[in-house]
Amino acid sequence: MFMKNIYDYDLKQLEELLAQKGQKAYRAKQLFTWLYRKRVKDFSQMSDLPASLCEELASEYSIEPLKEVNRQVASDGTIKYLFALNDGATIETVLMHFHFGKSVCISSQVGCNMGCTFCASGLLKKQRDLTTGEMVAQILYVQNELDKEGERVANIVIMGTGEPFDNYDNVMNFCAIVNHDLGLAIGARHITISTCGIVPRIYDFAAGKYQYNLAISLHAPTDELRRQLMPIDKAYPLDELMKALKAYSVDNHRRLTFEYILLHGVNDTDEHAVQLANLIRGMNAYINLIPYNQVDENGFQSTKDKDALHFYDVLMKNGVKSTLRSKHGEDIDAACGQLRAKYEENK
Ligand code: SAH
Repeated sequence: MFMKNIYDYDLKQLEELLAQKGQKAYRAKQLFTWLYRKRVKDFSQMSDLPASLCEELASEYSIEPLKEVNRQVASDGTIKYLFALNDGATIETVLMHFHFGKSVCISSQVGCNMGCTFCASGLLKKQRDLTTGEMVAQILYVQNELDKEGERVANIVIMGTGEPFDNYDNVMNFCAIVNHDLGLAIGARHITISTCGIVPRIYDFAAGKYQYNLAISLHAPTDELRRQLMPIDKAYPLDELMKALKAYSVDNHRRLTFEYILLHGVNDTDEHAVQLANLIRGMNAYINLIPYNQVDENGFQSTKDKDALHFYDVLMKNGVKSTLRSKHGEDIDAACGQLRAKYEENK
């Protein structure tokens, strides 16, 4: 029998759910604390809840929506987990160790339909959206591992497989749960949502006045080039995208991050850097230059380190701040979707 997952519900929804069972609101807080603060994996361990309620919950809700089926550990300590969900679908989650804390990169969908030509995730089309609980469980799994070392998940990036703004409601619910102070209490400024640029959802996000960080996968400074790399540009060209982002950034006083993968001979010339600077200059934003993780299937190559530094300099000289991201997990299948694509192929 298919059971709903208890991690699908934020605190308010748990209150409603328990109210229907004739329980007082404080019971929902107790349940929430057991799930996210004490992180028990069995309703029967929730010792301050009535035993009858625990039994009822156990008969209606599952508590573990994923199982680890594989992991790769890189020499820099980056861990890529491959999880199987209850329906057999597989997803990737990555743990990275930064000097500012542990970061977890989660998937938001099974596969992806955005079709970016350089990306390994799109090798497998979207099968379905992840539920809120399946996203929450990715964080809980890694947190339970970190508990053994007395460490905590400090940052979450929604940059794994999938387009978060193509699964908007579940993603926003996920953020609310991991952000809540009775639970994991991961600060909103430590949660980053990365989108390829689904403009109507950017307006929704702006209207919600959320404090989460927004990152935009730009990867090209002109529509002509961007639509060769990212089909989404045909639906939402750069002028519409930039208009939405400027409105969000100004109205909400938020700094934006633009992600720009450096692809050798494709988007990394001086001319591209100048065009990019012209596009971003004056905005409250910076550009995160990302070394490309090569994916055998599609033929793109990463820009050499010295050329990446040069690109960075040209941006600086043209009045735009950028950072050059360091590589992580180079000796494993680091690109989004790479491990999963290999696993599904061999199955
Ligand atoms: N769909 C969302 C989030 C998932 S992709 C988005 O587009 O932002 C997260 C980031 O990883 C994006 O910037 C994406 O372009 C980038 N990415 C995809 N494949 C990559 C690769 N092989 N090497 C480096 N970055 C990659």
